[in-house]
Amino acid sequence: MSAESEVVVIGAGSAGLSAHKELTRLGITSTVIEASHRIGGRAYSEEITPGVWFDLGCAWLTDGDANPFAEIADGLGIALGRVTWDAYNNSDHHRFIRNGVRLGPEEHAACRRYYAETDNAVEAAAGNGHDAAMGDVMDLESDYAPPYLESIATGWGVDVDGVSCADNCSSSGQLGYPVPHGYGNLVAAWGADVAVTLNAQAERIDWSSQGVTVETPKGNVSAQRALVTVSTGILSSGEIDFAHGLPDWKIEAINGLPMGTENKMGIAFDRDVFGPQGRGHHTVWSDNSESAKVDVNGMGFNSVSVFTGGRHGIWLEKQGTQACHDFAVDRVAEIFGNDIRKHVIRSITTAWSSEPWTRGSWACALPGQAHQREQLARPIDERLYFAGEATMVGGQGTCDGAYRSGIRAAQEIAAGLKRGS
Ligand SMILES: Cc1cc2nc3c(=O)[nH]c(=O)nc-3n(C[C@H](O)[C@H](O)[C@H](O)COP(=O)(O)OP(=O)(O)OC[C@H]3O[C@@H](n4cnc5c(N)ncnc54)[C@H](O)[C@@H]3O)c2cc1C
Repeated sequence: MSAESEVVVIGAGSAGLSAHKELTRLGITSTVIEASHRIGGRAYSEEITPGVWFDLGCAWLTDGDANPFAEIADGLGIALGRVTWDAYNNSDHHRFIRNGVRLGPEEHAACRRYYAETDNAVEAAAGNGHDAAMGDVMDLESDYAPPYLESIATGWGVDVDGVSCADNCSSSGQLGYPVPHGYGNLVAAWGADVAVTLNAQAERIDWSSQGVTVETPKGNVSAQRALVTVSTGILSSGEIDFAHGLPDWKIEAINGLPMGTENKMGIAFDRDVFGPQGRGHHTVWSDNSESAKVDVNGMGFNSVSVFTGGRHGIWLEKQGTQACHDFAVDRVAEIFGNDIRKHVIRSITTAWSSEPWTRGSWACALPGQAHQREQLARPIDERLYFAGEATMVGGQGTCDGAYRSGIRAAQEIAAGLKRGS
C-alpha cells in the first residue's frame, strides 16, 4: 500500500468513517486504514440466534430523531425501534430488585429520591469549580447506594471513586431508539461505501518532515495530514509509535481520559419468559454485592442484556465466558425466577477491557481531568488531528458523538488546508 492522499485517517469506527465522508464532501482525498478485519470499531452486531441481533457495543441511538444515525437509518431503509416504551423512557418504571425481591412502592420512591439527591450533589460539585470524584460527594452508606453505584459502574465503566463530577455532568444524550437489526449493522451498512484498507494497523506515525507518514504492515501511507481516531486505550498503550514523541500536554490529556469497561451479556430465550410487564430496565443487587443492570426485551426479541462494569466488570471478564454466562443467567433468574434457566438458548459475552483494538469501552475523565477532552481534540503542528468519542464534551462515549467528532476534525483539516466549507 503506498496510496497518496491529502489525509490519512487512522481507524474506521464511527469517527473515522464520518471524517472520510466529510473530507470527500469538501473535495479532500483521504485514505482510511483500519487495524482490524472489519469496519465499525465499537459499533458491532452479532446474531445470538437466527434473526435475533445483539450489539456488543453501541445499541441505542441516543436522542432519537436528533441523532444523525436516525436519518442515516431512514435513508438506508433500516428500521428503528421508534416506540416510546414507558418501561425504557420513564425512569419511574425502572425496577429495583434487592436480594431477589422487588422494592415496594415506598422503597422505590425512597430509592428514586436518593438518586435525585445524589445527582444534585454531583451537579453542585461540578458547578463549584472543584472537580471531585463522584464517590466523594455522595452518601455511600445509604441502602440505595448499591444500585446507583451499579448505574455509574456500567454507565461510565468506572467506579465512582474514579469518575469526574464535571465529566459526568457534561455528558449528554437520552436513551433514544434501539435498532432491532443492530446498531453495529447500521454503522457497517452506512460505512460500506468507504474504501478502507483493513488489517492495516498504524504502527508508527512520523510528522517530522513536510507531511505525515504512517507505517503499517501493508506498507507506508504518506499524506499532508493525519487524523487519529483510535481510543485512548490504544493511545496510552504505546502500540502506536509517535516518532519524536507526543507533546506533554497531549500525553496528559490521554492519561486523564483512561478507558472504562462496561461488558454486556446477551441472553436469548426460546420464549417470552418475562411476561407482559417484564420489558424495561432492572437493577439487581444483593447483600453479597453481586449487582448488575438488566435490560429486558430492549430490541423487541425474547432476549436480555446484562451489564457489568468497573472493577467488578473487569474481574468477571477475567473469569471467562462461562462465568459471565452463569452470572448473567443468575441475575435474570433473580428477577423472573429459576424457571427461566431451561429456556436459555444461547448467550454472547463481551470482553471490552481485553479487546485489542480499543482496550476498554469508552474514555472516562479522572476527577479533575474533565477539561482534557478539549486537549485531546487539539491538533499538533496543524498536521496531526484527533477525533473519536473521547474528544467530545457532550456526546462522549456515544456513537453519534464519535460521528460528530469526525465531522469536526474533517472541517478543521479543511480549514488548515484552506479548502471547502
Ligand atoms: C459495551 C458498549 C456499549 C455501548 N453502548 C452505546 C449506546 O448504546 N449508544 C451509543 O451511542 N454508544 C454506545 N457505546 C459507545 C460507542 O460504541 C462508541 O463511543 C463509538 O462507537 C466509538 O467510535 P470511535 O470511532 O470513536 O472509536 P472506535 O469505534 O473504537 O473506532 C476506532 C477504530 O480504530 C481502530 N484502530 C485501533 N488501533 C488502530 C491502529 N493502530 N491503526 C489503525 N486502526 C486502529 C479500531 O479497530 C477501531 O475500528 C457503547 C460502547 C460499548 C463498548
